[in-house]
Amino acid sequence: MRNIKDIDCFLLDLDGTIYLGESLIDGAREFLQILEAQGKKAIFVTNNSSKNKHSYQQKLEKMGLRVNPEKIFTSGEATTRYLNKNQPGAKIFLLGTPLLEDEFFNAGFELVSEAVPDYVVLGFDTTLTYGKLWKACDHVRNDVIYIATHPDYNCPIGEGKYMPDAGAIIKFIAASTGKNPLVIGKPNHYIIASLCEKYKVGKENMAIVGDRLYTDIALGINTGITTVLVLSGETTQQQYQCSDIKASYLFSSVKELGQALKNEMN
Ligand SMILES: [Mg+2]
Repeated sequence: MRNIKDIDCFLLDLDGTIYLGESLIDGAREFLQILEAQGKKAIFVTNNSSKNKHSYQQKLEKMGLRVNPEKIFTSGEATTRYLNKNQPGAKIFLLGTPLLEDEFFNAGFELVSEAVPDYVVLGFDTTLTYGKLWKACDHVRNDVIYIATHPDYNCPIGEGKYMPDAGAIIKFIAASTGKNPLVIGKPNHYIIASLCEKYKVGKENMAIVGDRLYTDIALGINTGITTVLVLSGETTQQQYQCSDIKASYLFSSVKELGQALKNEMN
């Protein structure tokens, strides 16, 4: 575990960490200003592959935060980077939104609907149809390589409500085919490998800041990266005390983390 003041690159989860629903977490703006003033890197990392970095930039801008879209890294981008290393230009059968389709198209892949694909890729497809699911099951059953962008079962949308997420679609296909995908996003190491390559950063002085134990904090444990759990989102103090997954640092929110960084510097 690194001393928090030695961390020079912070991987920041978005929902529950920087904002909750449509509102910024109290102190998030000041926290980002402290990072900037101290010359530390901030990279926003989200598992949600239904949107892309530009839609997240717009969302943050509506909340008054100006962020360069290149500093936003989604599991969708991590997946295109992983595939580009393995088979550039591959034929992909994609379960994804039009934004994820753009991401794959722009990364040089051929999206196919009728031809036999090289890969089936499953994202958080809010435009999913029974026809797409059926075809995906056929390909997976026929041993086409099967990849998912992330494993989350539900996506929080505020006021205690949720949308069924990619993990729930994975379960549907598993029930039909008995097969599970290789998962790129948090808590798996592939997303970190893609990120380190894109941003030319190492894991040594990095910390992952997030509100979920089984994605954000587990990712740090799986990859040997310092972790910071914030209690501003999903995890409560009581849940944390009962959990086997432990973070390197615990703060009520990024506001308190920012204060700790400031104090360390004084
Ligand atoms: Mg979160």
